Amino acid sequence: MVSKEQILQWLQAFAREIAQNKAYLTELDAAIGDADHGINMDRGFQKVVSQLPTVADKDIGSILKAVSMTLISSVGGASGPLYGTWFLRASTDVAHKQELNEQDLLVLLQAGLNGVLQRGKAQLGDKTMVDVLSPAVTAFAQAVGEGGDTVTALQQAVAAAEQALQVTIPMLAKKGRASYLGERSIGHQDPGATSAYLMLKCLLTVLQS
Ligand code: ADP
Ligand code: MG
Ligand code: MG
Repeated sequence: MVSKEQILQWLQAFAREIAQNKAYLTELDAAIGDADHGINMDRGFQKVVSQLPTVADKDIGSILKAVSMTLISSVGGASGPLYGTWFLRASTDVAHKQELNEQDLLVLLQAGLNGVLQRGKAQLGDKTMVDVLSPAVTAFAQAVGEGGDTVTALQQAVAAAEQALQVTIPMLAKKGRASYLGERSIGHQDPGATSAYLMLKCLLTVLQS
């Protein structure tokens, strides 16, 4: 089970993680993009954290929807609308819920991924955040199918995400700014895939604490 308090803790933990990795994410984006991914994400999630008190008494769906609106309005570039869409779609099926079981979390993760796929039109292997989000959902679904609880399933998802993140290094970028580099995008880890991995890792950390 994931409580509403844990969702709030997760958003705060992710914001802290982004702040701590701001330079790292920006460095990754400097290699194959425009050196702003850490800056974009940090701006968005600092804003999210500052606005959390105004929604903290609401249900999980409303909290995630508020996160989405903040990201869409405060983060430019590709990652703002894409993370905004992830949170918007993640919020829809968990509307009015005060806690999530492993099925709810599976639905949330799948809906978020579907939103990013629809919005960004990237496919698996295009060297984007999809390359982390998609294997993570698959691993989560498999673990739940085998009777795993939320923490077990999320452990599998984070392990899959960590591996998948490394797999973005040899990929040729086919979407986003990195795609402008063609062959020169090969050999660099994708920044958005990195932040997506951190997002999942932070949820696991909160659930295990
Ligand atoms: P920008 O590229 O506009 O500067 P960011 O640097 O904040 O935006 O984010 C870049 C990240 O966004 C990439 O590393 C990639 O993971 C992700 N991204 C870019 N385009 C897409 C897309 N069409 N679908 C999914 N993810 C994408
Ligand atoms: Mg960028
Ligand atoms: Mg940019």
